[in-house]
Amino acid sequence: MTTTKQALDFEMNEALPKIVVVGGGAGGLNLVTRLSRSLGRKGKADVTLVDENLSHIWKPSLHEFSAGTKGPDEEISFLEHSNRNGYKFRLGRFAGINYQDRQVMLDPVLNEQNIELSPARALLYDVLVLAIGSRSNDFGTPGVSEHCLFLDTPTEAKRLQSEILNLCLRMETGALHVGDEKVRIAIVGGGATGVELAAELREATEQLGRNGIDLLQIPESVGITVIEAADRLVAALPKALSQNVLHELNSLNIDVRLNTRVASVSDKSIKLADGEDLKAEIIVWAAGILSNKALATAVDLEIGSLGRLKVRPTLQATNQDHIFVMGDAADCEWAEKGQPLPPRAQVAFQQAEFLNTQIQNVLSNRPLKDFTYKDHGSLVALSSSTAIGSLMGRALGTFTIKGWLARRAYKYLHYQHEAAVQGHARALIRTVLSVAMRRVRPQLKLH
Ligand SMILES: Cc1cc2nc3c(=O)[nH]c(=O)nc-3n(C[C@H](O)[C@H](O)[C@H](O)COP(=O)(O)OP(=O)(O)OC[C@H]3O[C@@H](n4cnc5c(N)ncnc54)[C@H](O)[C@@H]3O)c2cc1C
Repeated sequence: MTTTKQALDFEMNEALPKIVVVGGGAGGLNLVTRLSRSLGRKGKADVTLVDENLSHIWKPSLHEFSAGTKGPDEEISFLEHSNRNGYKFRLGRFAGINYQDRQVMLDPVLNEQNIELSPARALLYDVLVLAIGSRSNDFGTPGVSEHCLFLDTPTEAKRLQSEILNLCLRMETGALHVGDEKVRIAIVGGGATGVELAAELREATEQLGRNGIDLLQIPESVGITVIEAADRLVAALPKALSQNVLHELNSLNIDVRLNTRVASVSDKSIKLADGEDLKAEIIVWAAGILSNKALATAVDLEIGSLGRLKVRPTLQATNQDHIFVMGDAADCEWAEKGQPLPPRAQVAFQQAEFLNTQIQNVLSNRPLKDFTYKDHGSLVALSSSTAIGSLMGRALGTFTIKGWLARRAYKYLHYQHEAAVQGHARALIRTVLSVAMRRVRPQLKLH
């Protein structure tokens, strides 16, 4: 139920209110685009986006970047996007907040050669939105940060893509002696990320086999293992669907180990809690989520579950009226279920829509509203042509969806995001071009 809240006692820094959104991911880029249309372009506010990267990648497709099935043409440049949509983009890494002077503090950003691209600086805000996402959770397991690859950022996804390609090339040329042992890629975490990555990698290694890496034409020359501590895969899905996901992965020759805990990780080896040593050339850690480390610097804000920032139902930080938190960074109560909202693109999308109106309420001194999440279900992609999940509709209730149709529904979530940040016409053109490009360029990134 929507309840109204007191209007904010709003005193601006300057004549034109300054709205700063930190983090241009699934939630932040969507929000900043909407704010530009509703306020920025109408001269009612100064809208700024801050991100530590120069381009946006829709995070749910990171596993496709790491498998090489998606490439740079899917990225959105913040500079070009901000110019076209009428907001300011500032490169910078969130480093904290000066509450007194209402300033967001940014750390310098360095490039790969350690050259400073942007210095430490401070930006004034009247309304601040933190949308800096989350990271996977190593649960304090020894050796994970040193020996595992991750799938949390575009840089990490690209590194994984290059490591997998290098592994396959080394196998093919004999630089890596394969012997009788199977070369293994191990993925720790059987949630949506781990499952989608495993299926995508199986497809990618088969395609590499068709692209001149002859050794990969031998079935199962690369073993893929998913390790999950719980008794089923993708706990967000109903139990019966988890079972279907397991069958699908098995049919793709992916070895799944349920009820299996990782005790520690060392170089190319995973020590399981039962004492077994599992050898793997590449180990990807895709288990659970934890807050983005940078949030720990927002010292005056209340920390909630998984280190995320606790928010009120209005999405304001619990003790700072002018600061909103959204997406994976927010610990927001799911009133209907009495638990925190899950870290999902669907949540970030709905919060962006909501905050666009909420911030207009703030600037117009209108009472604030409570955010209500509408769960539309969950889908897991199992390669480029199939997916599985359950959807929820007002008329149809909850129903199961599988195969090609499910994959189209999965893609629709991305299309919705594209349409929100690019506009429908551009989103449609980009989709058509991307389908056409797939026919004329290699299906895999091979460099
Ligand atoms: C492989 C994979 C598959 C997924 N599949 C699905 C799915 O099918 N459906 C679904 O609903 N969800 C899925 N998710 C989860 C979904 O991606 C997240 O819930 C969603 O992206 C959260 O949006 P966000 O805006 O909060 O954060 P993000 O999209 O992670 O964006 C955070 C932004 O903040 C920037 N940033 C980070 N730190 C700083 C800093 N210190 N300073 C400045 N900028 C910073 C980043 O560069 C990034 O642009 C998937 C996630 C992964 C990894």
